[in-house]
Amino acid sequence: MRRITSLLLALLLLLNLTACGSSAPAAPGSSGPSQPEVPAQEETPASDAPAEPEPEPEPEPEPYTILDPTVQPEGGVRDGVTYVAYDGVVEHLFFHPVVAYPELAFDGDSKSDGIDDWMVTAGEYLKILQSVYDKGYVLVDIADCWSEQTGEDGQTRMVKNTLYLPEGKKPLILSYDDVNYYEYMLTNGFTYKLIIGEDGKLWSWGLDPQGNEVVSRDLDAVTILDKFVEEHPDFSPFGAKGCLSLTGYEGILGYRTQTDSKSWTAEQEANRQKEIEAVKPIVAELKRTGWTFGSHTWGHISLNTRTVETVTADMQKWFDEVGSLVGETPVLFYPFGGRLDGDDVKQSGPAFQWMQQHGFRIFCSVGIDSWSKCKSDISAVICDRLHPDGTTLRSAKSREKYMKFYDAKDIIDLGVRPQREVGWQ
Ligand SMILES: [Zn+2]
Repeated sequence: MRRITSLLLALLLLLNLTACGSSAPAAPGSSGPSQPEVPAQEETPASDAPAEPEPEPEPEPEPYTILDPTVQPEGGVRDGVTYVAYDGVVEHLFFHPVVAYPELAFDGDSKSDGIDDWMVTAGEYLKILQSVYDKGYVLVDIADCWSEQTGEDGQTRMVKNTLYLPEGKKPLILSYDDVNYYEYMLTNGFTYKLIIGEDGKLWSWGLDPQGNEVVSRDLDAVTILDKFVEEHPDFSPFGAKGCLSLTGYEGILGYRTQTDSKSWTAEQEANRQKEIEAVKPIVAELKRTGWTFGSHTWGHISLNTRTVETVTADMQKWFDEVGSLVGETPVLFYPFGGRLDGDDVKQSGPAFQWMQQHGFRIFCSVGIDSWSKCKSDISAVICDRLHPDGTTLRSAKSREKYMKFYDAKDIIDLGVRPQREVGWQ
């Protein structure tokens, strides 16, 4: 029954996407810089012999450096850039998968309005990235923004870190909810999965409206940001990208790694193992290039209304089927924005405590600004995220609130979206 309820909720989510999100970065405060090894140069032997066709060489990944923004560069300068201490607000924007083909997403079917409400198109997303870049934001990893410290009373608590940023820059966290490539999305104008291309980089794979296979870096939120950072390396001075918030009920990243309690055959299990092997290099490449992961629960369940037993059983499944593939994470993204135990601001209820005991330290909901609070009774930080999407792009009030990032008027593509009301002129 619980399983059916989860599925129903999942279906509800798909029909009526509301605020959600998740991604999992490294352990809080401990995500030290990891220096990828520089691949050895292969020597090409000179030869006059007629060239024989050689097997395609495995692409050598380009080195990718990830740095810790809480460490001040020696002398305050790195690569000619001056870094200064920043203790202000760290802004946090989150996205859902972006619409690759508006003509499929906004075709007037039962999903159109939900997609219009909670998603942006690939074109709008790129314009948002360009705008936040132009306004001086730089990307930081969510797990670098707080650390766990032990106080004089012997209690551990989360504290906000001082970040050392290029002078004049402002920090920005990006997170991405439901990066699962749900079945319903495949026929509604989204990409199907992430793959590794012949160049060793991440690409998206999918079908265009005519049914042709498309491998691209311009249609998916992950690859668009990868490309943007390649073109604007100063947008990510520490190598951070975003935190990917994953459920588990339809697998992860476009790979069907989930179990199904309704029926399970040897064939299904064999296919699942194949998908697990296929997604491993994708996870590894994402991690290598600055992406982190967080939990969005297994079944996209409403954490504000479910019993502790339901929540913990669901999360155990997440650890088994998702955590086992992406690794430990301190970040939990609330499905539907529903706060644990109904309220995580005034209290740390039993479900909240269970999550904290199971490694979570950063609990993300959705709100009207990038509010955050380090709790005093337990080592945890709770925070809200802003949500660039159709609801906020269309609203006059939101347009004002988001003006520090972009002007919705310049971003929204009314030519492809459904003919629905816009609150501003
Ligand atoms: Zn969600």
